[in-house]
Amino acid sequence: MPLLLVQNLSKGYRTPSGGGHRVIAIEAFALGAGEHMALRGESGSGKTTFLNLLAGILAPDAGSILLDGVDQAQLGEAARDRRRAETIGYIFQTFNLLQGHTVLENVELGMAFGRGVDRTYAESLLGRVGLSSRLHHFPRQLSSGQQQRVAVARALANRPRLVLADEPTGNLDRRNAREALALIREVCRESGAALLLVSHDEQVLAQFENVQDFAALNRVVSPEAAP
Ligand code: ADP
Ligand code: MG
Repeated sequence: MPLLLVQNLSKGYRTPSGGGHRVIAIEAFALGAGEHMALRGESGSGKTTFLNLLAGILAPDAGSILLDGVDQAQLGEAARDRRRAETIGYIFQTFNLLQGHTVLENVELGMAFGRGVDRTYAESLLGRVGLSSRLHHFPRQLSSGQQQRVAVARALANRPRLVLADEPTGNLDRRNAREALALIREVCRESGAALLLVSHDEQVLAQFENVQDFAALNRVVSPEAAP
């Protein structure tokens, strides 16, 4: 049984006119424990929607998402939130740090919703991403590259089995993007976490051995199909 197993997944959004438009139609998708995979997809092709479904942030219209053999869709909201915090790390394009909290607090808050605050581990993770001297800085006092490194530490804070990365280097310059990506891959490898990254950036995709085309996976045939 793979770490992640998706079957007959379907998701659509309501349009303002009252209709619906289907964004996700994935028959089957699997990711093994510790595996690294990148999905290549155009903007608007449903990549973020897919990751949000995997994370349990969005509920599917149909289909199953088995993470470690447990179907997310069958869990209640509270159980799903807890499970997400404990098993999934999410890295966003826009970092999504809490601006009113320090670097260390951002990582500890991630822990508070998951396996519990462990300051020693939070500090060691921040050291791992090169931010030992920035623990008490606020996000706005950091460069974009440093902010994304905080987000990487936060994503790893609960020792997740799966890390989702949504265009994680989209707001970084070339050099920082390359370094951030290498760091994400290293910390995932060190902790044994599987990594699923989505991107439209060929330079990002080129750093992965395993790259799949999202369009081949996501077979949205009729845009008028209502959810
Ligand atoms: P990507 O991440 O590949 O750019 P998204 O998953 O963000 O794609 O979006 C896929 C499609 O779904 C787009 O056409 C987008 O406009 C639409 N969409 C995304 N989120 C919503 C939403 N909350 N409500 C309605 N439509 C949405
Ligand atoms: Mg997106």
